[in-house]
Amino acid sequence: MMNAISSHSDQYPPLAPGLYLVATPIGNLEDITLRALRILRSADRIACEDTRQTQKLLNHFGIATPTVSYHLYNEGLRAQELMTQLEEGSRIAVVSDAGTPGIADPGHELVRAAIAAGIPVFPVPGANAAVNALIASGLSTESFTFHGFLPAKEGQRRTALEQVPRGQETHLFYEAPHRILDTLSDLEAVFGATQPVVIARELTKLHEEFLRGTVSEVHKQLAERPSVRGEMVLLFSPSPQETAVPTRSIAVEVDALMQSESLSEKDALKRIARERGIGKSEAYRELQREQSRRR
Ligand code: SAM
Repeated sequence: MMNAISSHSDQYPPLAPGLYLVATPIGNLEDITLRALRILRSADRIACEDTRQTQKLLNHFGIATPTVSYHLYNEGLRAQELMTQLEEGSRIAVVSDAGTPGIADPGHELVRAAIAAGIPVFPVPGANAAVNALIASGLSTESFTFHGFLPAKEGQRRTALEQVPRGQETHLFYEAPHRILDTLSDLEAVFGATQPVVIARELTKLHEEFLRGTVSEVHKQLAERPSVRGEMVLLFSPSPQETAVPTRSIAVEVDALMQSESLSEKDALKRIARERGIGKSEAYRELQREQSRRR
């Protein structure tokens, strides 16, 4: 345990008034930065997603700054209180349970309010699950999209995946362990069993693990475990559209997909439209034309 340093220590110049967004570790306490510790020590107040969770971190580093809860359910109300203090010249640090505040975590509302009121906002960089999953994934880091959490409901999740564009870009999602198998099944239905994926699990922790392979291989690997646990990031980069002229008619492809993958006609059409790079209504009209020619 380190010694607490008072907020008015001679060791450091006083903090400028404003809002400090302080990243905290996502598993490994060594990932706190020296600057984060100084700001957490010197701030007038720390707004935390869960005060009990943050208190463990503060105790570990011997920091005695008062905390206040600031989470999804009181974000609006608490933002007003914190804004009053910021307008009076306070130094408020915002932390989430883990990682970077505002990234799939509270923080954004306060940032917007502070900017609107002309209060300085200072990012204090540190751990973030998405960026660290990306850099070690082996997938392209040149262009990427972070989507946050996928919808929990199956239909909405499938639709969200269907909207992921094909191309060179890497797509990143946060996913809960109890949903990952269903999500991989959806991914397989939308992009095919050979779509490569990466799952970054328990980053920076003792059991850190990267699962890399086709979506069906990774699904099999996880499904064989007695239980699927841990925090995870899902990454993939759907391969670009094949430009080759399709050799099979849409009607034949729809029938094949309905039989082999038990898709509804609508889902089969959506998949084919995506694979051919045409709109759903265009695919539907073509299907109707083919069906009328068959009659
Ligand atoms: N603000 C955090 C950040 O900067 O990464 C994310 C918070 S979000 C509520 C929590 C999700 O982030 C988890 O469900 C998981 O998807 C991902 N995550 C957090 N820590 C992780 C870790 N150590 N390894 C893998 N994923 C992690």
